[in-house]
Amino acid sequence: MTQLSAEYPAEQPLQAAAVSEHSVAASVRSVEDAPAIAESAADAARQSQDVQIKFASGDVFLNVLRQRVDEYFTSSGRPRRDCLQMYIKTAVIMTWFVTSYVLLVFLATSWWQVLPLAASLGASMACIGFNIQHDGSHAAYSRRRWVNSLMGMTLDLLGGSSYIWKKTHNLVHHSFTNITGHDGDIDLGVLGRLSPHQRQFRFHRLQHVYLWLLYGFITLKWQFVDDTLLFIRGSHSQFRFSRPRGWDLAVFLGGKLAFLSLAFALPLAMHSWTVVIPTFLLTSFLQGVLLSVVFQLAHCVECAEFPMPSDASGRMENAWAVHQVETTVNFARHNRLVTWFTGGLNHQIEHHLFPQICHINYPALSGLLEQTCEEFGVRYSAHRTVFDAVSSHYRWLRKLGRETVTTSNC
Ligand SMILES: [Zn+2]
Repeated sequence: MTQLSAEYPAEQPLQAAAVSEHSVAASVRSVEDAPAIAESAADAARQSQDVQIKFASGDVFLNVLRQRVDEYFTSSGRPRRDCLQMYIKTAVIMTWFVTSYVLLVFLATSWWQVLPLAASLGASMACIGFNIQHDGSHAAYSRRRWVNSLMGMTLDLLGGSSYIWKKTHNLVHHSFTNITGHDGDIDLGVLGRLSPHQRQFRFHRLQHVYLWLLYGFITLKWQFVDDTLLFIRGSHSQFRFSRPRGWDLAVFLGGKLAFLSLAFALPLAMHSWTVVIPTFLLTSFLQGVLLSVVFQLAHCVECAEFPMPSDASGRMENAWAVHQVETTVNFARHNRLVTWFTGGLNHQIEHHLFPQICHINYPALSGLLEQTCEEFGVRYSAHRTVFDAVSSHYRWLRKLGRETVTTSNC
């Protein structure tokens, strides 16, 4: 079990890991969440004994990248955060969400109205997650901490937990991307084999068929299983960290209350449970599929690497920034609709290298990053279309389910 406690806006471990060669877990530090770090300093010390992954040092690649990105923002005069476009986008997405909800709960009277409205609501919820919550939780939305917190809290409104997200996504996934046994986002337990280093079961031969359905239940798992385990056991999936306290606890419980009121109490005041429950499940299923698939297209496709540390030293072969690029694959970069809906997560390489920059800027940074990767001999992978990326994920699942694959297949 990996114990978690430190938080960071994810550009920090990049530097710490690459330059100092210390264990990432022991090195990560937060700039904007300093109180959270101070609170968990003792846990962080213990954590360093549990996680001893070390990335290679001397990351000239990262330093050049940062220099060029800095030059871009200086010369263009564009803001890294607090982008007007992002505030407008937030208003549009929240209007979409509220309109779908109001029409579905208060005005829909027949199934042919309920089905498209439930689909619209599910898609708007995924869109909030990709755009508003994700940028907010990474402190990429604004320079003001309270604005980032507020935007991150949209996840609590949707039944998730911004507290858990910051631990599992910001800290674990962004530090240990695609490292089997550490990155919880590639761990489906026995249900699926996403990494070549995971155990293979006979029924995985069909995972390229059934996993698409299971993806639809990921939001239910967040809402009703993971959070409950956190309170009972003080852990989430394979991760162990402190239960929320004080303000974090208030947000956690307040979010649950708001979510249960919106998802069940209010609809049940208007309709019978035979309508409310299936509609809730349909909305949740669509949201889960969208959230899961967008993640899988970035990290669980043929060109993504799944490197492992040395057993003896815990050392990774590559520096942290190179590791991030080679474990991540972009898709449909030139499709503006996909970029809009996914909150720039079709530019995951840019996101993993610069998670504290608002996603509105990713398309402009993409060429610069790709060119720098080429100069340094770092493989920058991108699928041209969503279809190409989905096909690659399908093939990767089928291959892992049937063969003893040990490396990526790019
Ligand atoms: Zn992220």
